[in-house]
Amino acid sequence: MAEKENPDAVPPGTPGAGENICRKCEGSGRIEGKECPECGGTGKVTTGIGGG
Ligand SMILES: [Zn+2]
Repeated sequence: MAEKENPDAVPPGTPGAGENICRKCEGSGRIEGKECPECGGTGKVTTGIGGG
């Protein structure tokens, strides 16, 4: 199961970064019964603030 790089994701601990609900699966961590590739099934993504 290869993890796909999220272009919006930043490493944990990055200044200004915040944990947000995954917009792709809306926090469920799953899409159509499968693990969400965006957040890796966690339902959350860590993104930089102000990055768009
Ligand atoms: Zn997701």
